[in-house]
Amino acid sequence: MNPVVTAVLLIVAFAAFAVSVRRRWRLLMIGSAGRRRFVPDRVGERARGAVRFVLGQTRLTRYRGAGLAHEAIFFAFVVLLVRSLILFARGFVGDPGFGYWILDGGTPLGNLYGLIKDVYVVLAVLGALTFLYLRLVVRPHRMTLNAEGILILVIILVMMVADVVYDGAAHVLAAGPDGPRFNGWEPLGSVLAGPMSGLPAAAVGTVWHLAFWTHVTLVLVFLNILPYSKHFHIITVVPNVFLRDLGPRGRLVPIDDLEGRVEREETLGVRRIEELSPKSLLDLYTCTECGRCTDQCPAARTGKLLSPKQLVVDLRDHLYENQAGLTGRRRDGANAAHESDLVPAVVDPETLWACTTCGACEEECPVLIDHVERIVDLRRHLVQEKGEFPGPLQEAFGSIEAVGSPYGVSADERMAWADGLEVPIRGDTDDVEILFWVGCAPATDDRAKRISSAVAQLLNRAGVRWAVLGAEESCTGDVARRAGNEYLFQAMAEANIEILDGYDTKRILTACPHCYNTLKHEYPDFGGHYEVAHHADFLAGLIADGRLVPRRAVEATVVYHDSCYLGRLNGVYASPREVLERIPGVTVVEAAASRDRGMCCGAGGGQMFKEDEPGDERISVARTRQLVETGADTICTACPFCLRMLTDASNLGDQTGIRQLDIAEVLWQSIRGEGEPEGASSEVRSDRV
Ligand code: SF4
Ligand code: SF4
Repeated sequence: MNPVVTAVLLIVAFAAFAVSVRRRWRLLMIGSAGRRRFVPDRVGERARGAVRFVLGQTRLTRYRGAGLAHEAIFFAFVVLLVRSLILFARGFVGDPGFGYWILDGGTPLGNLYGLIKDVYVVLAVLGALTFLYLRLVVRPHRMTLNAEGILILVIILVMMVADVVYDGAAHVLAAGPDGPRFNGWEPLGSVLAGPMSGLPAAAVGTVWHLAFWTHVTLVLVFLNILPYSKHFHIITVVPNVFLRDLGPRGRLVPIDDLEGRVEREETLGVRRIEELSPKSLLDLYTCTECGRCTDQCPAARTGKLLSPKQLVVDLRDHLYENQAGLTGRRRDGANAAHESDLVPAVVDPETLWACTTCGACEEECPVLIDHVERIVDLRRHLVQEKGEFPGPLQEAFGSIEAVGSPYGVSADERMAWADGLEVPIRGDTDDVEILFWVGCAPATDDRAKRISSAVAQLLNRAGVRWAVLGAEESCTGDVARRAGNEYLFQAMAEANIEILDGYDTKRILTACPHCYNTLKHEYPDFGGHYEVAHHADFLAGLIADGRLVPRRAVEATVVYHDSCYLGRLNGVYASPREVLERIPGVTVVEAAASRDRGMCCGAGGGQMFKEDEPGDERISVARTRQLVETGADTICTACPFCLRMLTDASNLGDQTGIRQLDIAEVLWQSIRGEGEPEGASSEVRSDRV
């Protein structure tokens, strides 16, 4: 070995790497500070998450084959990092028999390391071959075939082969031509030593040198490719996971000081790339281009233009291509592309408006990239500054503003759902343990009204002391917020909080996951702090406490559809199923895509009030087909938006034979007494008591 060459290689490689990292760091720092914390709090929790998601590879095995292959390569790199350090040391010292490292062969620890290292060499080769097979032969839609990905895999394979060849040659040189051949602690090298022992010593020495220089050079080449490739995630994944948003999954970060920003003529939302936060830019650095987000995205799966992966890649390419202009190194105007608006220069508006904010992409992403926040930020600029958004949303915004409901139903009609029912109004009574926040859909949509009716009757039957706000209730603003109208959302939030606090509200019950998410996770940012329950949890609790006893058999084979805002974003999976399973006669079956892998119905993110963006089919139709394929005769939901979307979708296609009901409707059917109104549940066969 040659200490001078080793030293020069190391100095040149690390100097080049330092220059690249500095460039990336400067680019990261153009991000708009303050939009997301870059100085971390809750350090212990963050560190535990980094260990779980990075070392534990928690998300990777959701795709079993690719996940196991990635695990093999990841842990091989960890193990072989030690090997590389040993080899660099040998570049300075040179003697293959020199046993100065505790992990070098010959010591007990060294022997153990040698064996483990060989196991991981095999695993890394298998992992790399699996990825080559996936990329070149299987070619799943989610993966992009590019030269960089193949190059990295070839480098890994060559490094592994060089490592084994190095061991084999070292074995022959150390033991001599007649020495022992097989060493169980270095099985791969000693197997190779057999054929090599017949070569002249000089030739073995040359092979040994070649293998050594191949390994150390490729390590340094690999290091320098990283900052310019998707494999940069090897370096950025730990900080990206560490700096992740620890807030509730369903919460959007508010635009602070909206009025002040308007006065100062600052951008509302994100218009240009530098208006993304440093954390958001770090997300772009960290994307591995695995395509899992796109694979699970309901918009992408139904042929819409939106691909969350492509969105990230496009933004990253734009960022890198405009490095000089963004970091101020070029002031001649020749690189002014970064000054153009991201929409439409980099992002097609159709892409943005296809998102349902369902969170499937974020659930899947192995490196915890936030997609929804960025998409909503881009919408915010379009809506609040440019006035560019799908026409039907204008109607919804206008109705919320005018009458407090995206359905355009005025406040004095908001109690029509309660006709004939015993429904206490909060303004008329103080004897209230929990406020029932009805929500715009269950209060005003003809189909969803039957949900609020069932809930009201169940609350009365359980003896709950409850009340509704009645005409004082307004839209929470969820639709406006997710569609980018933060200004309208904040106005609604402030007005609602004033009313809720005026009644000294502590506990709220709602049958709408969107209201639930907003009241629970977003109103605290505006001073509204409440204990919020979704009716799935609340009804399950009433059954568990014996306050509701399902007795009447309801003959139905039910598939439960998980609402994204209840399930994925709030982790409520068990209680709706518990409610259904407690009803005699009900058999619950599962869709292949359910719980955190459940497919969105297509309503969230403002989609409920506009048409799907162009694509192969409606999201709701695709989801209904999945549910029908279970053989169930009834689709159950715990969300008025889902219920409406899936009901409409069933009527659109060849899926008309299936019923759609909220869990509260089925439960009421089982609990109601003789002569009490059946409500919507009359569609369910109820023939035994
Ligand atoms: S939130 Fe849902 S619809 Fe939007 S990009 Fe992610 S997976 Fe697609
Ligand atoms: S955003 Fe996440 S899931 Fe999507 S391609 Fe990038 S790393 Fe994969």
